[in-house]
Amino acid sequence: MPQSVRVLVVEDEVALAGVVRDYLLRDGYTVEVAHDGPAAVEAARRVDPDLVVLDLMLPGFDGIEVCRRLREFTDAYVLMLTARDAESDKVAALSTGADDYVVKPVSPRELLARASAMLRRPRSAGSAGPAAGTAGTGGTAPPLVVGGLEVDVDARTVAVDGTAVELTRTEFDLLAAMAASPRTAFTRAQLIEAVWGGPWYGDEHVVDVHVGPLRRKLADDAAQPRFVRTVRGVGYGMGPG
Ligand code: CA
Repeated sequence: MPQSVRVLVVEDEVALAGVVRDYLLRDGYTVEVAHDGPAAVEAARRVDPDLVVLDLMLPGFDGIEVCRRLREFTDAYVLMLTARDAESDKVAALSTGADDYVVKPVSPRELLARASAMLRRPRSAGSAGPAAGTAGTGGTAPPLVVGGLEVDVDARTVAVDGTAVELTRTEFDLLAAMAASPRTAFTRAQLIEAVWGGPWYGDEHVVDVHVGPLRRKLADDAAQPRFVRTVRGVGYGMGPG
């Protein structure tokens, strides 16, 4: 990683924060550390990080509140650390705009692998999207349309029945990958490949954790889907079930 990549580590366990910081420094990242919620937001404003490694349980206010405040001024990647393997924690973290989560205890090596996978992803509108059906380079692709759903890959906007829907980056990338090939039944591994574009060190279940809030935001019903259907024994696809 180039030295210009800035990582903010937010962790109130000082020893753990130090270990993570040292690993990141050794890999050439620029690192800032904060130990509580308010300090995390202040540090993010100051250093404009590319990636925030954010513990969920923090003094001051928790990681979910930190993430909510970060999203008011930065599109930095947020990797949330959750202490328990609790579904509600993951869903809460991802719905406030975290891009991914890892369950503690996590080894610094795994954390770095997840961080670098995340940083390989496109950050801004107009950059090469994941497995998107754009023809050629630099051209403006027409929006992908699936029923009442419109996905504009270039503008990174989504509308359902003409009404704009706000998605997190990961939700958008998943949706764009599926909408680009609406007849395909994607395996979780294929969706991970499309969104992260590299080897995956985590649990394929991460796809399901993002699909839940994605469906909610699209007002889609898993039992009678209009847009994101579950393909039993495989993964997900687009269109009515
Ligand atoms: Ca903590």
